Amino acid sequence: KPPKQITNEPVKSFSNKDVLDWDLLRASISKFNNASLDVPLVINGKRIYHNEGGRQFFQQTNPAKHSQVLANVTQASKEDVRDAIQAAKAAKEKWYKMPFYDRAAVFLKAADLISTKYRYDMLAATMLGQGKNVYQAEIDCITELADFFRFNVKYAAELYNQQPCESSPGVWNKAEYRPLEGFVYAVTPFNFTAISGNLIGAPALMGNTVVWKPSQAASLSNFLLLTVLEEAGLPHGVVNFIPGNPVDVTNEVLADEEFSALHFTGSTAVFKQLYGKIQSGVVNNLYRDYPRIVGETGGKNFHLVHPSASLPHAVLSTLRGAFEYQGQKCSAASRLYLPESKSAEFLENLVGTLGSVKTVNTSASKINGGDLHGFMGPVIHQQSFDKLANAIDEAKKDPELEILCGGKYDKSNGWFIEPTIIKTTNPLHKFMSTEFFGPVLTVYEYPDSEFSKICETIDKTTTYGLTGAVFARDREAIVLADEKLKYSAGNFYINDKCTGAVVGQQWFGGARMSGTDDKAGGSNILSRFVSIRNVKENF
Ligand code: GLU
Repeated sequence: KPPKQITNEPVKSFSNKDVLDWDLLRASISKFNNASLDVPLVINGKRIYHNEGGRQFFQQTNPAKHSQVLANVTQASKEDVRDAIQAAKAAKEKWYKMPFYDRAAVFLKAADLISTKYRYDMLAATMLGQGKNVYQAEIDCITELADFFRFNVKYAAELYNQQPCESSPGVWNKAEYRPLEGFVYAVTPFNFTAISGNLIGAPALMGNTVVWKPSQAASLSNFLLLTVLEEAGLPHGVVNFIPGNPVDVTNEVLADEEFSALHFTGSTAVFKQLYGKIQSGVVNNLYRDYPRIVGETGGKNFHLVHPSASLPHAVLSTLRGAFEYQGQKCSAASRLYLPESKSAEFLENLVGTLGSVKTVNTSASKINGGDLHGFMGPVIHQQSFDKLANAIDEAKKDPELEILCGGKYDKSNGWFIEPTIIKTTNPLHKFMSTEFFGPVLTVYEYPDSEFSKICETIDKTTTYGLTGAVFARDREAIVLADEKLKYSAGNFYINDKCTGAVVGQQWFGGARMSGTDDKAGGSNILSRFVSIRNVKENF
């Protein structure tokens, strides 16, 4: 039976009733600050460190202070990848034959450990490693992560309890929900520790075993997450953790005939490559079955403001949707459409508020007494910094673009980009279609009378379809936008920012080139990791 009372984990950091213990948080941050930990591979539960057998390693540094090494992360060799695959295959039978109740218990217990015993370590690892302020860390590696584990159990129980096949006198039919026959490959992103939890957790809950390549930039929090799952009772070999060179690891995994599913969050470009590779594997008879491909990728997400909108609300929502976590949510708003009559007032307010937001610095020097909940932090790494800095430089020279605020960047200590707003005179400018994955928002002013036309423009400007929002009080405008933008976003918001989907409430996933739209945080995703066998028995 589905467990009773699955509810969303409450956010602590800004709640009055149940506040974070700042001393415990500072203690956890200091622990990681001073440690420069070794992060191993974990294959069949065994830790393998880079100093064994001359393996390569890479360094995970603090994006707010790139001279600070947080972790020396072991890189999986080709043999390690093969060992991880073997471990996943070997652990499979025992794991899926375990009653669902017992598999579920592992995830429910892990959720409890995350929100209690490991809360501050999880926060510290995510803040330091992934450049989050305390609020952004809390809504990621505590509440969303715990929610994924708990809601997946609820949805899985509902699925297992469904018996959709009719029977008749003398004939008894059943649908049996088996795990996939091979193993699942999870490729997880840097920007949400919670997403890693779901990408490994959803298939594992359904009885699959997993080979997991975490993002290099999230190694610390992701390794901690695995140790929490182990403490909650996850048997060895069910999830095998192999950080490493993405191309090398992936090539090795996709060459295995028992590769059964890809569970991916990352860039559209990489997803397309993997998609093509898997399809060619199918065509060339490499695999035993058609691998499931489940992915959530990039976006060029929009905020559309109607003249009837409440401006203060739309301004604040845009500030949060575009710039929280430095615009590094896949869902972040990066194009804004304003009506000419309201544009000046809107932008004046937005620029004014942005000017007053604080920078968070999680580097060692600032930690004692430092501000842990400033608004803006660093972007994740040099590659991202360079891409954003180049885009800003390009904008400075382009006659169709005008920088309204921000436009500065500084990499002397960390990867800091000022929140930047750029105005364009061309609604089809490439700044309205290119994903920069950072704190850069491009705005276009449309004539008030052309609301319907601008909806059509929004729809055809990009090939993405992840998130979008309309701000309006006029119901006819809402209906019109809802209709015209039907396929422009997998997650569509009315009078709310386009980020911050809550597990169980806003099922999250992109349409078009933003993903396979299988909806993390909903029940649909779990059915992608089972294979139904129909059994008919005659009496
Ligand atoms: N689910 C997150 C949100 O709604 C974004 C997920 C992502 O960045 O991939 O903000």
